[in-house]
Amino acid sequence: MEFINRRKSRQIQVGRVAVGGDAPVSVQSMTNTDTRDVPSTLNQIKQLYMAGCEIVRVAVMDSEAATSLAAIVAQSPLPVIADIHFDYRLALQSIAAGVHGLRLNPGNIGQKNQVREIVSAAKEKSIPIRIGVNAGSLDKALVQKYGGITPQAMVESAFRHLRLLEECEYDQIKISLKASEVPLMIQAYRLLAGQVDYPLHLGVTEAGTVMRGAVKSAVGIGILLAEGIGDTIRVSLTGDPIMEVGVGYDILRSLGLRTRGVEMISCPTCGRCQIDLIPIAEEVEKKLAHITTPLRVAVMGCAVNGPGEAKGADLGIAGGKGFALLFRQGQVVARLEQQDIIQALVTEAEALAREREEAGILEGNQSIGPDIARNSFGG
Ligand code: SF4
Repeated sequence: MEFINRRKSRQIQVGRVAVGGDAPVSVQSMTNTDTRDVPSTLNQIKQLYMAGCEIVRVAVMDSEAATSLAAIVAQSPLPVIADIHFDYRLALQSIAAGVHGLRLNPGNIGQKNQVREIVSAAKEKSIPIRIGVNAGSLDKALVQKYGGITPQAMVESAFRHLRLLEECEYDQIKISLKASEVPLMIQAYRLLAGQVDYPLHLGVTEAGTVMRGAVKSAVGIGILLAEGIGDTIRVSLTGDPIMEVGVGYDILRSLGLRTRGVEMISCPTCGRCQIDLIPIAEEVEKKLAHITTPLRVAVMGCAVNGPGEAKGADLGIAGGKGFALLFRQGQVVARLEQQDIIQALVTEAEALAREREEAGILEGNQSIGPDIARNSFGG
């Protein structure tokens, strides 16, 4: 579905993940463990990786956290970005520890020579820096100048940070302009997108708990992506970061920008439904979460829209009275009793995914191929 005309951005490299240019829009998340606790942080990174995350960011609060990065980076299946505020020494330590990118706002670092030091270390290791403007921490002078937190104030903030990096002849940059208010972040990104060709990292910050945060993120990130704006995304949820990755892919799949994993089509049920469909849909979704091959699976309640959707998907069921018809690539292949539906659908989906993988139909994780994902961290 090619209805999106993506903005032409320059491409940068975060470890083995390309961001910008013609690279697929990548999915990021951030750990919420204490970065000084290496085993817990690595454990979460591996879970994020299994969920399809492609770039991970970790908070670097102090020197001990920066020191831990060496062990984290060495064992991480994902490129690691160090999130730094204020202290340039933490940036230098993180670069020395081998991180694949930094998130820091050069205007908050202090002196120009300190920014220069960071940039020269980043250049040496060829790692990019994200300027991450956040509406909640805008410079007071800018807020005053614009009479509030406005899209223009956010964009000017980005340009102030950007100039500091450009003065050091540095261009391995991406930019984010996050806000918790969706209209504000949309306008800010739109404004900036027309003025620079750096790749843009999209996000609605402090979006909220899982359900509300997912909706806000889908609206904010989704509108921009549909306009062709955005090269990498992070969904911020007050919850398990693993959920962020799933929501991120759902946004991208909804727009036809990524196809990784199972796209579930399930009906809302109504008075015509004569099987217990909701637990079936929930269970099937859970049991197929490990599949990385693109697959459309329809779980439909009755004979009105059911057969059409089930036929159009790779696999599907259309419910009858206490039973369901199983469709595989448009053909009815079985009549299932209620208690057998979940298992049959899961078995068929796994078999079809295997066949597709063998045929080379994949949309893996940009960081490492899906085989490694399955084999290395299966436990
Ligand atoms: Fe109702 Fe059937 Fe539509 Fe499901 S598919 S919402 S059961 S009419």
